[in-house]
Amino acid sequence: MLIPSGQPVIVGSGLAGLLCALSLLPRPCTLVTAGTLGEHTSSAWAQGGIAAVMGQGDSIEAHVADTIAAGDGLCDSDAVRRIVGAGPEVVRLLDRLGVRFDRAPDGTLALGLEAAHSHRRIVHAEGDSTGAVIVRVLAERVRAEPAITVLDRTRLLSIETDGAVRAAHLQRDGRRFRVPTAGVVLATGGVGGLFDDTTNPLGSIGSGLAAASRAGAVLGDLEFVQFHPTALAAGPGGGPPLPLISEAVRGEGATLIDETGARFTEELAPRDVVSRAVWHHLALGHAVFLDARQALGDRFAARFPGIDRICRANGIDPARMPIPIRPAAHYHMGGIVVDADGRSSVPGLLACGEAACTGLHGANRLASNSLLEAASGAVAVAKILAPEPDAAGTVSEGGAAVAAAPLAVPVRTIMTRAAGVLRDEDGLAAAVRVLAPEALRDDTALVGFLIALSALDRRESRGGHFRTDHPEPAPDAVRHRLTLRDVLDRVGSEPERAAS
Ligand SMILES: Cc1cc2nc3c(=O)[nH]c(=O)nc-3n(C[C@H](O)[C@H](O)[C@H](O)COP(=O)(O)OP(=O)(O)OC[C@H]3O[C@@H](n4cnc5c(N)ncnc54)[C@H](O)[C@@H]3O)c2cc1C
Repeated sequence: MLIPSGQPVIVGSGLAGLLCALSLLPRPCTLVTAGTLGEHTSSAWAQGGIAAVMGQGDSIEAHVADTIAAGDGLCDSDAVRRIVGAGPEVVRLLDRLGVRFDRAPDGTLALGLEAAHSHRRIVHAEGDSTGAVIVRVLAERVRAEPAITVLDRTRLLSIETDGAVRAAHLQRDGRRFRVPTAGVVLATGGVGGLFDDTTNPLGSIGSGLAAASRAGAVLGDLEFVQFHPTALAAGPGGGPPLPLISEAVRGEGATLIDETGARFTEELAPRDVVSRAVWHHLALGHAVFLDARQALGDRFAARFPGIDRICRANGIDPARMPIPIRPAAHYHMGGIVVDADGRSSVPGLLACGEAACTGLHGANRLASNSLLEAASGAVAVAKILAPEPDAAGTVSEGGAAVAAAPLAVPVRTIMTRAAGVLRDEDGLAAAVRVLAPEALRDDTALVGFLIALSALDRRESRGGHFRTDHPEPAPDAVRHRLTLRDVLDRVGSEPERAAS
């Protein structure tokens, strides 16, 4: 495979990466992705859809207000207005690219309603398969474009800078390559894979955040991780990733019960409130189930065919049996801090999708705003990526990949205990202490360390971040920003990158 140099390198083939590459056309780019195109992406697993103001009676102002209410005091109102305002155009763009959204009999878009949205505005495709449809359509288009060089089964290791981006360091088929470029776009998704229980693909470990941080970029809002309360407590092989049992099942009247059959929480409370109640009940030694027997019974399969299939594949008939559930890390509100065009603080380094921190979500994401953010961010980034006449140089091979030494600490266990649904000073301080030495050489330890440190520093409870020792919000809502240099100064170490 010939790897071109001197053209933008986009990392990730979820909605953000695919749409960014397509929006750049006819300008060429290299699209790097860890799996095959579109594989192992949260995008392909999105069930609900894209939030966009498309219906009568709805308004941009109403969507803005709902988003800001969910964000619990930390949204950037300019970003909210810009991204929410782009919603209708995002839907039209995807439609032009060939995504067939579901329509009502009169030909208008069929719009779903989700928790905390004041209007029906969730655009979806093939029912609960929206993400799969989008990724399939965009991936087909990308494959057909000679201007897009796809490097699949290829990992970004690090980004070389000298004040600005100079090259991307990649690993493919056990070989390492230095690819000269003046523009790297990180569309590497979320961080759920850092926790024992997650709904994300297990490769969602924040490796883009680690690369950006080592390149000197400012990261922000890292402590805000959204946990979904009802992931199926069994997955393929019984472990993560855990399939999602949509909120809509509770919306239809299903209840949360324990092994005695007793209810213990208000099922339709906000997502973070329900997650805490379930987490707490599990911690008390109970088993927790979602019980749809009374509310849906034999109607379950017709109303939720996808979820019915998932349950049955795990030996559960949801019409007759309570569904075992537990909370799982689902979405990361924080990421690489970017401006309206997706620029990070490092010239030539851009980000879009879940890896970016635009200010749209604040302390908590409003359901279905993330596909919207991924698409609008991808288009914005593509507008400013310039041709690279000066970045030309030859791709050089850096020799065989060297296997990293095993980590001395179990990052996922540490993150689950310390930075999960319920957090406190002692647990977070201990996590920071044990992750710090490993953070210098390992990406998962680095991102875990930065999340734990941010959570330790936020001595209040807000949005997706709950501190049992500081259960109330502080009077002032403040967003936290950090660079690796600040952090290392604080822990008294020198930056180094053993892996690159
Ligand atoms: C089960 C589930 C359901 C969801 N439902 C919805 C919904 O209905 N509506 C909504 O708005 N949001 C939903 N979300 C959230 C939404 O899907 C994601 O936020 C969004 O798809 C992120 O898109 P992305 O392109 O940024 O990242 P992803 O789609 O996760 O893609 C990341 C890409 O980066 C690649 N990658 C990562 N690291 C590297 C590396 N080092 N080198 C090379 N490649 C790398 C991965 O292989 C992948 O191709 C859901 C999420 C999940 C998990």
